Amino acid sequence: MFHAFLIKYAEIGIKGKNRYLFEDALMKQIRHALREAEGEFEVTKEQGRIYVRAEGEFDFEEAVESLQRVFGIAEICPVVILEDEGYEKLSKDVIAYVDEQYPDKKKTFKVYARRAKKSYPIPSMELAAELGGDILDAFPDMTVDVRKPEILITVEIREKIYLYSQSIPGPGGMPVGTNGKAMLLLSGGIDSPVAGYMIAKRGVKIDAVYFHAPPYTSERAKQKVVDLAKLVARYSGPIHLHVVNFTDIQLYIYEKCPHDELTIIMRRYMMKIAERFAHQDGCLGLITGESIGQVASQTIQSLAATNEVCTMPVFRPVIGFDKQEIVDISVKIGTYETSIQPFEDCCTIFVAKHPVTKPNVNVIKRSELNLQEKIDDMIEEAVNTAETIVVQ
Ligand code: ATP
Ligand code: MG
Repeated sequence: MFHAFLIKYAEIGIKGKNRYLFEDALMKQIRHALREAEGEFEVTKEQGRIYVRAEGEFDFEEAVESLQRVFGIAEICPVVILEDEGYEKLSKDVIAYVDEQYPDKKKTFKVYARRAKKSYPIPSMELAAELGGDILDAFPDMTVDVRKPEILITVEIREKIYLYSQSIPGPGGMPVGTNGKAMLLLSGGIDSPVAGYMIAKRGVKIDAVYFHAPPYTSERAKQKVVDLAKLVARYSGPIHLHVVNFTDIQLYIYEKCPHDELTIIMRRYMMKIAERFAHQDGCLGLITGESIGQVASQTIQSLAATNEVCTMPVFRPVIGFDKQEIVDISVKIGTYETSIQPFEDCCTIFVAKHPVTKPNVNVIKRSELNLQEKIDDMIEEAVNTAETIVVQ
């Protein structure tokens, strides 16, 4: 029945030049997302509104699901497009529309008409009143409520006539690409994909880095991270995923440093290396899935020790969330099932029985002196040998 969607977006903070950037980024992301839906679509901007028009047959559910992954969309309104064939025909079509969309017909409603084509012979107010009257005649149990109608039936007169009354919620946020770029430390767990999603939702484009430790972590574990990146990319657009071979560095730390400090030291090197890729890719920050107190390496002291090596801001969007709250988001965005597959990531293999929970930065730095001889070369090597996968 539907031919198009009217895309509504929150307009706060997008005045002037920003508005064009916002709209253009939104249209780009809409086109990208709709590639997953069956059908051909045309995305246009007209008089400050964005329309998605289907060219012929399309899968309605798939199109809506795709649009619901586009940050910046506040509401998705399915639209019926009618030819302008006179008032009688329009009235008939509007009644048929109400009949089909609202089976119980006991609703309060209002008709809102807008004449974008000024040559149309009936003024907006008159058109709304006429159509409202016809609906009442056809469905006597419907009532008009001009203040707070349950259904607002909008009729827009353009070259063709646009009819809509429903609104499906979008994901909110801002279009990816309107707020720069950041580097996500993506592991195979539950938290980091959620963290990436949350930052992308604010309009930030993301790339990612994964620390792989073969043979301690399997090919399957890497594949799982690629799969997670794909799921995040459905929202964020393409992600450049850098897969860093971290084995030698891990073994070196294991050999030279106290085992209870291993996780913290390892995490500090992860951040350092991630920053290298961040600079390379033009990112202005790092993103992690850390949450205060979740594990030993995420006590406030551990976070401080990890953070100490970073020169860029580190965004930790789930920092104040309980695990269950993070799980709820991962279920909602569709990463949960993949995250709980049982492949070890590199951290779980080298964890000490009793890791320090209150590391002292000075003590950690002293331990790191044991790495002086080779670590800089090893970091170079890890950066230079990383494999970059473009995840669509
Ligand atoms: P997650 O569920 O995201 O794996 P986690 O609860 O397992 O998190 P940690 O293993 O302590 O927590 O990792 C904290 C954060 O460090 C992760 O959210 C992620 O951003 C980053 N991280 C951990 N391991 C890796 C890895 N192998 N590659 C890339 N980033 C990692
Ligand atoms: Mg993890």
